[in-house]
Amino acid sequence: MLHPHRRTVLGGLILGGAALAGAGRAAAGPAAPVVRVDDPRLAAIVDPEAGLATLYAEGRWCEGPCWAPALGGLVFSDVKADRILVLGPGPAPGRPATVRAPAHNANGNTLDGQGRLVTCEHRGRRVVRREADGGLTVLADAYDGRKLNSPNDAVLGPDGAIWFTDPVYGITEPEEGIQAEPEQAARRVYRIPEPGRVEAMTDVLDQPNGLAFAPDGRTLYVSESGASLNPEGGRAILAFPVEDGRLGRHRVLAELEAGVPDGLKVDARGHVFAACIDGVRIYHPDGTPLGRIATPVTAANMAFGAKGRLYIAASHAIHAIDLKA
Ligand code: MG
Repeated sequence: MLHPHRRTVLGGLILGGAALAGAGRAAAGPAAPVVRVDDPRLAAIVDPEAGLATLYAEGRWCEGPCWAPALGGLVFSDVKADRILVLGPGPAPGRPATVRAPAHNANGNTLDGQGRLVTCEHRGRRVVRREADGGLTVLADAYDGRKLNSPNDAVLGPDGAIWFTDPVYGITEPEEGIQAEPEQAARRVYRIPEPGRVEAMTDVLDQPNGLAFAPDGRTLYVSESGASLNPEGGRAILAFPVEDGRLGRHRVLAELEAGVPDGLKVDARGHVFAACIDGVRIYHPDGTPLGRIATPVTAANMAFGAKGRLYIAASHAIHAIDLKA
């Protein structure tokens, strides 16, 4: 089901966003474009004619994509299927291999400063690092003597520390962990300056979720995916100034009119990519919406890969689209 007007850069199944045909079924008529332009500056980020490839479509709830060449390509979690998989690096990656199963309902993944995989576990209520021999080192499982809620997503900070969010989804959603009462009085953003040491960075969010730093390390973006306790911050992407290793007072980068923001990534020029109900929304660092890469169903998270490729985890599927260099 190739559409002749659409340049096929990637292997796999090329989809029009709104015209999801499903694997093996032909779309009726020309596919709708997956790139929706709100601002002409989007064309410098992604070709408005770019197609979306589906590399994998057998997950239950794919999350935490992370470009990890040392582990074989694109690592991602399937939270509900309780495993971590890896897709090969090529345009036709084939069947994913298993990195870890069971995986404590793993969610977000990132690499630390030495390229080691760091994983947030719902069921384990901890953040772990995978060592070269496959063993796990616990980086964080408690704060102030009490269990974490359910670490959701993590990022390597400009300070070399792992920063992570700790909403309660992994102890409230039946298929995503084990039900439990939270021991923490808040859902915070934390940082891990060294294994076993956990510092609280902010507690103003109701359900902090995705997080990413600006290229200069002076802004931390965090998705608020709950109904915020903070009247400014419900269903929004917040931007915190990072000052001397602390977070200053936030501003609202963007508010969503529908759905909730989940994973966040920032490109080398500072554009903010947010996984949302209708795909990946792309914002200028001043908050101007530039446009969107539509996904067939809710997008959960993203990863930048090699050669300008953006990988998108969206429900049961992993998609890819080529960005401009
Ligand atoms: Mg998340």
